[in-house]
Amino acid sequence: NKFEQLGLNEQLLNAITDMGFETPSEVQEKAIPVLLEQHSDMVALAQTGTGKTAAFGFPLIQKINQFSKTTQGLILSPTRELCLQIAQELKNYSKYINELRVVAIYGGASITEQAREVRKGAQIIVATPGRMQDMINRNMVDISEINVCVLDEADEMLNMGFYEDISAILSHTPKTKATWLFSATMPKEVATIAKKFMKTPLEITV
Ligand code: AMP
Repeated sequence: NKFEQLGLNEQLLNAITDMGFETPSEVQEKAIPVLLEQHSDMVALAQTGTGKTAAFGFPLIQKINQFSKTTQGLILSPTRELCLQIAQELKNYSKYINELRVVAIYGGASITEQAREVRKGAQIIVATPGRMQDMINRNMVDISEINVCVLDEADEMLNMGFYEDISAILSHTPKTKATWLFSATMPKEVATIAKKFMKTPLEITV
């Protein structure tokens, strides 16, 4: 099992076996070892279906301190459906890590209920930019101590007009965090985000 050579812990490897993943995909092979070892920014050009969720999800989960309830990882994603899908995948990946909680935050559902879920402890939040910004403004979430911020489908988020929200959300995160950006395409708006908010990102193309 080649996943064992990427540096992943026992709990993740057991979950990977349960899911029936046999070999890492290209983006997983390229991203996972570096993201685990270095605290660096990354830009990955990868389409949906390449296994990109696990490429950021495995290293993100491994970096979480499950015994602290603080929000440590934030994933921004363009739609409610994608948020729910990513949150479900991360729950599958972390099934053997008892204390880890992943909470999805998105528009069109009760903000009070989502705030309640966050208050119970959410080491990882998967959010759409609009609802995330709303909850920051209402002091319902605290992302001042995150270690990692993932911008998933960055081109889609910018197409949908989320630049201002993303920019505002990032201003509430610590400078010391790592930012991992995934995008299917690299229009100049995405390059601008990378340039403005990231430090000499490692680049991966699959
Ligand atoms: P994604 O590109 O993250 O949307 O993943 C596409 C699909 O591939 C999802 O259903 C994953 O569960 C699955 N998948 C991800 N990585 C692997 C792998 N290494 N082997 C088999 N299936 C995988």
